[in-house]
Amino acid sequence: MVEYREDPVTGVWVLYAPQRAKRPQGYAPRAAWVEAPPHDPACPFCPGNEHLVPPEVERVPGPSGGWALRSVWNGFPVFRDPGVQEVIVDHARHDLTLATMSREDVRVAMGLYRRRLLAARSREDVAAPLLFRNEGSGSGASQRHPHAQLVGLPTVPGPLETRWRSFRAHHDREGMALLASLREREREARERVLFEDRHVIVFAPRVSRASHEIWVVPQRDEPCFEHSAEATREAAADALSRASQALTAALGPVPCNLVLHTAPKGSEKDPGFVWYLEVVPRILTPGGFELATGVIINETTPEAAATRLRAALGHQH
Ligand SMILES: [Zn+2]
Repeated sequence: MVEYREDPVTGVWVLYAPQRAKRPQGYAPRAAWVEAPPHDPACPFCPGNEHLVPPEVERVPGPSGGWALRSVWNGFPVFRDPGVQEVIVDHARHDLTLATMSREDVRVAMGLYRRRLLAARSREDVAAPLLFRNEGSGSGASQRHPHAQLVGLPTVPGPLETRWRSFRAHHDREGMALLASLREREREARERVLFEDRHVIVFAPRVSRASHEIWVVPQRDEPCFEHSAEATREAAADALSRASQALTAALGPVPCNLVLHTAPKGSEKDPGFVWYLEVVPRILTPGGFELATGVIINETTPEAAATRLRAALGHQH
């Protein structure tokens, strides 16, 4: 069976082709996950190597006088103009991932993301604050050590502007935020929902650009992550931790991106926006078909992914 679905947020088309997963593999499917030590003397983000990276912006103190997490200026920024470009080293230990950090660690990390986003949002020279996380080879990460990145965009690029326009247009048309419509649709369909509580719902989106993609969406329509209720943010951190663990339990450790979508600057109260978290495993590499058509082939339907992830969640403690 072949099925096309259009992503209502980006307008990108996804072609589900589960039969492709049965192809014989002449190449190793992906680089093996390399185990790492808890501390690597050669790693610039490990404690003791603070002198190897640019100055610190903020730290969360750790036990015995060190730091637990810290944010530093990015030594290899995307933009030449300095603006806001930070690397948030979100754990002192070298070998952890979102899945192997404790729930409390993920909460504390989200707290630091929030404070750094607020600081970026308050600056005159920032048009939009972005927070993302690259984990594992194949995710875009150049360092194994767990870290997130904060970029304060000086101007808004076209594709991001298009995305925001689609949020506003949906709200004008339907009287509700696009993310709220998607959340209601997933709740009604049920088959792609992993779990939910009073504060957040977690599902494999109907149009998943990546195999086993997961979204964490608040139950209340809050446009801006930084200004949302503390209980919602903590529930989202817990949900992110659980979802990451389920992903690792189902697939083994895989390279992954996390994107925190929050309202653009000046739209903190815009009812067209709802903040959300996007967890994007990087299992498939786009090939010539994607380059030729702009359509993404996904070998796993979100319905199949959700079934598998729910089974993994069933084994969680
Ligand atoms: Zn390290």
